[in-house]
Amino acid sequence: AALWKAVPEAPADPILGVAAAFRADPSPNKVNLGVGAYRTEHGKPYVLPVVARVHRELLDDGVDHEYLPMEGYAPFISAAERVILGDAAAALREGRVASVQALSGTGSLRVAFEFLKRFYRPRAGAGDAGSLPKVYVPSPTWSNHRQIVPDAGLGDAVLYRYFNAKTHGVDFSGMCADLRAAPPGSVVLFHGCAHNPTGADPTMEQWVQLLDICKSGSLLPLFDNAYQGFASGDLNRDAASVRLFADAGIDLIITQSFAKNMGLYGERVGCLSVVMSSPCSPEIRTRVLSQLKLVVRPMYSSPPALGAKIAARILGEPGLFAEWNTELQKMSSRIYAMRVALRDRLIANGAPGSWQHVVDQIGMFSFTGLTPQQVAYMVEKHHIYLTSNGRISIAGLNPSNINYVADAMKDAIE
Ligand code: PMP
Repeated sequence: AALWKAVPEAPADPILGVAAAFRADPSPNKVNLGVGAYRTEHGKPYVLPVVARVHRELLDDGVDHEYLPMEGYAPFISAAERVILGDAAAALREGRVASVQALSGTGSLRVAFEFLKRFYRPRAGAGDAGSLPKVYVPSPTWSNHRQIVPDAGLGDAVLYRYFNAKTHGVDFSGMCADLRAAPPGSVVLFHGCAHNPTGADPTMEQWVQLLDICKSGSLLPLFDNAYQGFASGDLNRDAASVRLFADAGIDLIITQSFAKNMGLYGERVGCLSVVMSSPCSPEIRTRVLSQLKLVVRPMYSSPPALGAKIAARILGEPGLFAEWNTELQKMSSRIYAMRVALRDRLIANGAPGSWQHVVDQIGMFSFTGLTPQQVAYMVEKHHIYLTSNGRISIAGLNPSNINYVADAMKDAIE
C-alpha cells in the first residue's frame, strides 16, 4: 500500500461528480439536471424503439462479436460521413475524407488531437520547421475539452471569448477578435450546433464570417458534433455549420458522437473524419488513414462493434432512417416544450429576470445564469442537482418536476 501513498485524491469531475452526488441523496424530491442524457417525461432513460428493434434484429441475424478492424466498421464509417457532410458532399465524391470509427465523441476527439500532435506542425514563415499548434476552445466549453487537449500533449487549450452573460447569447465580436488574433495554423474547436454548456450558437451569417476568419488566418477548424439532429430535430439544419466549412474546400476535422441522437451513450459510437482540402491525391488520404490507425492500435486496438452495427443499419436503410428522424423530432420537441414551460413558470412565479433565453437556447442544456452560490443552495435546500456553472439539462425536466424546479430557482435567486 505504501507504494501509492503519495498519490493525491483527484478532483471530482465537474459533470460526472454531480451524478454521483445525486445518487447518494435519499430525498424523494431530488431532481437530476446535471446529466447530459435524454430522459422521458417520466424521468426515465429512453431507448429509441428503432434502436431496440434493430438490436433485436441483429441478434436474430446471428451477429457475431468478432473484432472490428482498427478503423472500425466500414458501413458505419461511410454512413457517418454522409450524415454529417451530406450525400452530395464534394469532399466525399472526390475522396478527400479519411475517417475512423472511434469511442464516441470523446474518443474521436482524443484520436484527433493525438494525430494533430504527431503530424500537424504549422509554420510561422519560410525556413520555420513548424511547432505544435495552439488549440483554441470556446469560453466556456464542455469541461472535458480542456482535459483532452493537454492529455494529448498539446499543452493547455487557449480560450476564445464565446458567451455574453448579459445577453445570454454569443459574444460574436469578442469571438471574432480572439480568433483574428490567433497565430496562423492554430486549431479552433467549434461546437457544430447546440453549444454545450451555453445553448447559444452563431447564426448562419456569423458562421460565414467565422469561415472567412479561418481562411484568412490559416486556422484549422475542428467541429465537434455531439448533438446533430437532437438540437433542432433536423439533421441537415444541425449540420449546416459543418457543411458550410466543408463545402469551402478547406482542411477541417470533424468529430461525431451518436450518444445523444441515437441514445447509444454507453455503446461509445463515434467517428473522426479528417477532411482534406481540394485537390487531394488518393495517396495522401491513404497515408493519413494509415496514421490514424497507428494512433488507434496501441491505444485501444479497435472500437466496439455492436453499437456501430446498430447505427449503420439505421443510417443505411431509408425506412429506419425516417423512423429515426421522427424520434429526433420527438425528443427535440419535448425539450423545447420544457423550455417554454420553464420560462412561463419563472415569469408566473415572479422570479427576477427575463427568462426568454431559456427558450432561445438550443440543445440539451440551458445556461440559466444561476451563480455557484445559488447552485449550492438549490442542491442543499431543494435537492436539485446541476453543475456549478448554472447549466441545467432540460431533458431532466418533466411535467411532474418543472414547477418544483422553477420555484426553487426563484427561491435561490431571491
Ligand atoms: N462534445 C460535446 C460538446 C459534448 O457535449 C459531449 C457529450 N457530453 C461530447 C463531445 C462527447 O460525449 P461522448 O463521448 O459521450 O460521445
